[in-house]
Amino acid sequence: MLKGIAVSQGIGLGRVMLLEEQGLPLTASGGREPVAERQRFRQAVEAFCQSTASQVEQLRRSAGDEDAFILESHIQMARDPILLEEVEALIGEGACAGQALEQVCQRYIEIFSSSHDELTRLRAADIRDMRSSLRCLLAGAQEVSLRNVPKGTVLVTKELSPSVMSGIDGENVVGIVTETGGMSSHSSILARALGIPTVCGVQGAVALLKAGCFVIVDGSRGEVLCSPAQRVIEDYYHRREEFLSHRSQVKKYKNRETRAASGEVFSLTGNISLPSGAAGAVAAGAEGVGLFRTEYLFMNRAVPPDEAEQTAAYTLALEGAGGRPVTIRTLDAGGDKDVPCLDLPKEENPFLGQRGIRWCLAHRELFLIQLRALLRAGVGRALRVMFPMVSTLEELRQAKALLGEAAAQLKAQGIAVEKPLPVGVMIETPAAAWTAESLAQEADFFSIGTNDLTSYIMACDRSNAQVAGMCSPLQPGVLRCLGHVIASARGAGIPVTICGEAAADPRMIPLLMAFGITGFSVSPGAVLQVRKIISDWSLADAQALASQVLAAGTLPETAALSGA
Ligand code: PEP
Ligand code: MG
Repeated sequence: MLKGIAVSQGIGLGRVMLLEEQGLPLTASGGREPVAERQRFRQAVEAFCQSTASQVEQLRRSAGDEDAFILESHIQMARDPILLEEVEALIGEGACAGQALEQVCQRYIEIFSSSHDELTRLRAADIRDMRSSLRCLLAGAQEVSLRNVPKGTVLVTKELSPSVMSGIDGENVVGIVTETGGMSSHSSILARALGIPTVCGVQGAVALLKAGCFVIVDGSRGEVLCSPAQRVIEDYYHRREEFLSHRSQVKKYKNRETRAASGEVFSLTGNISLPSGAAGAVAAGAEGVGLFRTEYLFMNRAVPPDEAEQTAAYTLALEGAGGRPVTIRTLDAGGDKDVPCLDLPKEENPFLGQRGIRWCLAHRELFLIQLRALLRAGVGRALRVMFPMVSTLEELRQAKALLGEAAAQLKAQGIAVEKPLPVGVMIETPAAAWTAESLAQEADFFSIGTNDLTSYIMACDRSNAQVAGMCSPLQPGVLRCLGHVIASARGAGIPVTICGEAAADPRMIPLLMAFGITGFSVSPGAVLQVRKIISDWSLADAQALASQVLAAGTLPETAALSGA
């Protein structure tokens, strides 16, 4: 069995088709007049833009606007005046169009590939893709087309470009395995939109999987099984049926409001860890982003991102969400999240140490950089900021004061900051929960982080298997606390959402509805399922269930009542 990254859920069973790397060898066509060569290049660019525009239209019909936008960006790239100018300058110096294109694209690929930012690195693949199409046009060759592949094809390739991906026949291609790419690469976003089970990052896939061999692609677990036994095949056919029937049930919830059976409307947003995730969350049916875990921007690098890089990252998330609200959580380092570039102190009890807002308040200069970046990105956009691991009112006040200071610093530099950003508090500590009334007087919204809150209420480290069974949001002590927090927020008239994993737990959803939650934020893959569950409950039924559950005294009882 080969392992990779599960980027598009589902199970595909079929035969391997190895896809050659795209692109033609460059043959120099020396001796041409620069004027004629420029003309040839412009014609190729025009032909590329026209054929890409028609692919965009096809994709808009099969996958929707957000995904078509990915391919549309290739047209903008090809028409980029700087890139065109650079290629034409080289042609003017005597290079043929193909060589000039190669040289300019290669330079951009190298620059983008060395970026710290994942999204910028992924743009290198877009340039490679555009270059490969333009090469074909300049050479008068046909591009790779996947329109007429045999039924039951599993594509196996090193890297799959969005333009080739957009031409895929979703009926006949039942699975995709690539050696490169990741959750947020454009091809993966397209694979999800087309519903093709896909596993990326499978090392050595092209050498290990032979053309024509029968494989199972498990896009939910990130596994590829080669020449499996008949018994295994039957088991996977069965699992595929179950998956398809479930998916067709929830698919119809994609472009709907999130509404209970009795008519109440809830917000339903996605949780993301990278700026590029915002567009993916919206494509998965989310109404915006409810939790952007910004600490991931600080990981896997030697120095923290500066103000400009952070501003660009937050802007990207906001733009990816297409005007929908995006809630960005300030840095939550510490606990189980080590961020080497911050040189966090070694603590005996990191979960009880200087994590989240505590660390930020103790490192004002770094915190101010993030706050300034948020304020800059928020101009004219629906950005909401929230603070993690708050446990006292003083912390909220200090964090808000620093946000004010960051705004004043920007103003002093002549940088516009329109109006104060809405400020929220994550309710993750028992202290925050039991002072919710006073926090609610000074916050614009609450977001309940049940992962930490449950663990702190139960005094259970959730990574410790000995106590994992106790660490459940269905514990009577946790449920009562949730009820109190939600009632406090509602009493103060502020929205209260939930962004911990409990938000997607079918047993918790009716209870939270009954307590008065105003919204849910879940991982993008769970959005439609959560919308369906909400729509299955009337508020009266949810309240009846909640009063029974609250009367129960033990976890086995609450779990049994709520359908465990
Ligand atoms: C939580 O604690 O529930 C939460 C959403 O934050 P994180 O999982 O990032 O700690
Ligand atoms: Mg947390």
